[in-house]
Parts: sequence; structure tokens; C-alpha cells
Amino acid sequence: MTNQDLIEKLISEKSLLSPKIIDAFKAIPREDFVLPEDQGKAYEDRPFSIGYGATISQPTTVAIMLEELQPEAGQKILEIGTGSGYLTALLAKIIGDPSTGSGQVGQVFSIEYIPELKNLAESNLKKYDFKNVELFVGDGKAGLKDFSPFDRIISSASAIEIPESWKRQLAIGGRIVVPVQENLVVLDKASKNRFKEKINTGFLFVPLK
Ligand code: SAH
Repeated sequence: MTNQDLIEKLISEKSLLSPKIIDAFKAIPREDFVLPEDQGKAYEDRPFSIGYGATISQPTTVAIMLEELQPEAGQKILEIGTGSGYLTALLAKIIGDPSTGSGQVGQVFSIEYIPELKNLAESNLKKYDFKNVELFVGDGKAGLKDFSPFDRIISSASAIEIPESWKRQLAIGGRIVVPVQENLVVLDKASKNRFKEKINTGFLFVPLK
């Protein structure tokens, strides 16, 4: 299976819909983010272990999360759970590549709990020339106040409930996509204290530590 086969599968299943997200999948081959022993299987639609109890997410899940998030060129994004850096790279491509949107360059701030995984993501991302990605080690539940407000917040690890810090650090008009237990929750910030929530059921994620 090639990247093109994977993309066609995701499109035919209607997990991938938006041209800008499809272009990012084309530009960021998943084989750059799986462990060496999984190279030959990189385009299978399933998660793979990346060590430390973490996985590179299943492509279908990544596609659905990005379609829900709808990142736009020029935006500031907070990602929680960098892991392999695969989603980080897709985000950086979508929001930062002038050819995909308004010509503005956005920025991705990504937090990973496990230092070794932050290092893994860093070395995976070196294969690209992103100038709009910053990686941090820490507890993503606190967010990154110093760089807020964010236009979009996305977490690859599931929460028991959505941390208040994320809601506060989200720009008005912004959106959070986060797994809450086995649901994928989409939260839009209408005003300082008013949020609109949509729930998609039936997912499985690595829990937030
Ligand atoms: N998008 C990543 C998914 C990695 S799995 C990929 O496709 O590679 C989820 C990641 O969240 C794991 O790397 C895990 O270590 C990290 N994580 C769990 N709890 C966290 C927390 N509280 N803060 C930051 N990262 C966390």
C-alpha cells in the first residue's frame, strides 16, 4: 500500500474531504513518522506503537480530526500529544504553506509529555523544513498561556473532561477538537463564556496522563 492508496481509501470512506487536508496528506508521507520496523506497513490504516505506551494515530482518525478542526492558513494552533510528529507536520503544512491559503504563515505549538517522544518528533520533523513549528515538553493540560490565544486546539490524547485552560486560551471564534473518553468532541467558542459542543461517538484514543 502506498500513500496514494491510503489517501484514496480515506477519500472513498469520506474521512478525507477538504482539498487543503488532502494536499497535506500527499505532502507528508507517513513513512517518515513510523518506527523503522514498520516502514513497510506505514500506509496501512492502523495505529503503530512508537514506544513509551504511545502510538502514531490511525490515519482515518487523523483525517476525521483534521476535517473537524478545519485549520486555516495563517492560524495559531496548539497541539497536545506530539507523539511521532505526524499530525504536527500535517498541521504545519496546512496552516503554513502559502500555496494552500491566504499566503499567511501560521504557527504550530505542540506539547508532549514524554521527553523521548518530543525528541523522536524533532528528529522526524527534521526531514522537513518547517519554520513554523515549536515543540515543548510538559503537561498539555495546562496549555501554553504565553502563546495564547490559539485559533485551534487539538489533542491526540483523550481527556476525562476538557481542561478549562484550553477554553481560556482559545480565541473567540476558535475551535477545540479533543477526544473525551471515547467520543470526539468539537467545541466552538462563541464568546468569552459561551461554547457550542458537538459530539462524535465511537473512537479509541491514548489517554492524557
Ligand atoms: N498525534 C500523535 C499521537 C500520539 S499518541 C501521532 O500521531 O504520533 C498521544 C500522545 O499524547 C502520546 O505521545 C502521549 O505521550 C501524549 N500525552 C499524553 N498525555 C499528555 C499530556 N498530559 N500532555 C502532553 N502530551 C501527552
